[in-house]
Amino acid sequence: MLKISKIILYDDPKHPEIKIDKLEEFLSKNFKTNILRRENFFEIVDQNILDEIKKVRVYDLKKPFSKQEKNILENQEFEMFDGFEIIKIISKFIPPDENRMDIFHVIFTDRLIGTFDESDFRYHARIIIGSNPTIISIPGMIEAPAKPKQYYLDLMTNVENQSIEKINEKYKGGFLEEHDPRLNDVAEGCLLQAIVYYETGEEFCEDKSCRLFNSHWQKDLISTQVESKKLCQKHLQILKNLTNQS
Ligand SMILES: [Zn+2]
Repeated sequence: MLKISKIILYDDPKHPEIKIDKLEEFLSKNFKTNILRRENFFEIVDQNILDEIKKVRVYDLKKPFSKQEKNILENQEFEMFDGFEIIKIISKFIPPDENRMDIFHVIFTDRLIGTFDESDFRYHARIIIGSNPTIISIPGMIEAPAKPKQYYLDLMTNVENQSIEKINEKYKGGFLEEHDPRLNDVAEGCLLQAIVYYETGEEFCEDKSCRLFNSHWQKDLISTQVESKKLCQKHLQILKNLTNQS
């Protein structure tokens, strides 16, 4: 039985390749629950949220959030935000009457989010921070899973002095790029991961061919989310159990 009775999807209009109406359709097919679509979360709630989010920016990838020194590297080329801290902020801005266990909030964002990994003492970009609310980072789909090793070698050595565009051209299709139409397929997989995690407490699947697999490489992400789109036997059954009895 699903503990979720309603799912609210918050769009990010800067990414039209994420087709929120298609995602709604996908969820309706898989879960017998109410699904609502909303505009960009960060625009429809109290605008103080934007100031709060600025405070959870990560300036030093090698320090956990509690040890970050603010505003030291304004020239940093990327902007990353701490995933767990951003979830705390979003939770505060969810309207009180919708801040309930059975209403599942999914927020798509244009921001790059990361979490500090204690095993190698650095931040890593993440696609998804699963909880309620769940946040799904669209740039994370492009930045978090690694591109082919040879691609990085080509960039580093670049013996023929090729432009980055030329090198990218050589690997065309092998990894996701900005506004890639395949990002919507990845978003479907992220929704499944978020819902199964919320319902069962089990994070990701060990099976490399399952849509709930946590892909560390672009190749695996494309294979599980775009090409095969399949769940393993175990997760098929879990999904069935969750939906049949609801
Ligand atoms: Zn599985």
